[in-house]
Amino acid sequence: MSFENIKGQSSAVDFLKSSIENDRVSHAYMFIGPSGVGKKLTAVNFAKALNCLSPSRGGPCDACAQCRKIDAANHPDFAVFSPTKEDSGLSIDKIRAVIRDIGLKPYEGRKKVYIIDSADSMRQEAQNALLKTLEEPPSDSVLILIAENVNAIFSTIQSRVKRVRFFPLASDEVTRILVDNYKLDAKRAQVLSGISSGELGKALKYEKEGFFEKRSRIIDSLAGGTFADSDLEGFSKSDLRLALDVMLTWYRDILIAKAGACTRAALVNIDKADIIDAEAKKTGFKELNNMISQVISTCSFLDQNVNPKLAMGVLGLNLMHR
Ligand SMILES: [Zn+2]
Repeated sequence: MSFENIKGQSSAVDFLKSSIENDRVSHAYMFIGPSGVGKKLTAVNFAKALNCLSPSRGGPCDACAQCRKIDAANHPDFAVFSPTKEDSGLSIDKIRAVIRDIGLKPYEGRKKVYIIDSADSMRQEAQNALLKTLEEPPSDSVLILIAENVNAIFSTIQSRVKRVRFFPLASDEVTRILVDNYKLDAKRAQVLSGISSGELGKALKYEKEGFFEKRSRIIDSLAGGTFADSDLEGFSKSDLRLALDVMLTWYRDILIAKAGACTRAALVNIDKADIIDAEAKKTGFKELNNMISQVISTCSFLDQNVNPKLAMGVLGLNLMHR
């Protein structure tokens, strides 16, 4: 895997390559963006480029001993720190290990490169400890924080790192990756890519957590005119958020079919195109807009911590007795 394998993030990759070429490498970076779009892969390749024995235009050769050791996560000057399943965030112990090690000279590379994955899960004491290191950064090392939620990170840390932005992937790019790399059926891949708005990590998470079964339950009852909060029995709070996303894409698909301006390829729920066409014939524009507004209002109720069962119950009544 090289910089060339990272799709849709050319601004981040070009920036990092040019910082190596122009000898303007910072001591600390924060890669910010949604999950599954290539932040970690970029960080690993940046570590290779910083240590590569024959780099080319700021990129790694992928073939020298340094590149191969980093690719195999077997290089003494390279490490990735991630929270484990048992941790409720990146622990202070892991951050202390980073701090302890990063002050040492590189063993065999030019730069020590430490990646802190899910940096936004660091609790206060861990962030405070890291801040001290960022205030007096060792010259032979590069620290890369990876985060989705920049607001969870102290502003004092943010001001001491170079921010690099990563963006959601184009929908057809996510579909292609799901088909080629994860061997998903093309229609299912399209549905997942549409519902996850270009966040590959989210698409994969949904697939793993039984998304299609949950979606069918919601769509069947919406189309059958029987939707009620009891259809969401056993849904966690994040499942409820997903249920609302499913509803939004469902009504949006019907709206698209009704407008007749787009091809079927524009639908998210492409595998349900026949039901979507039937719904489009019997539902009015005003009604559809109204239902979309109801779902959007429910999203904001959940954000305001309204009792989820109550919010979904009210939504069910409004949608079914329109
Ligand atoms: Zn190399």
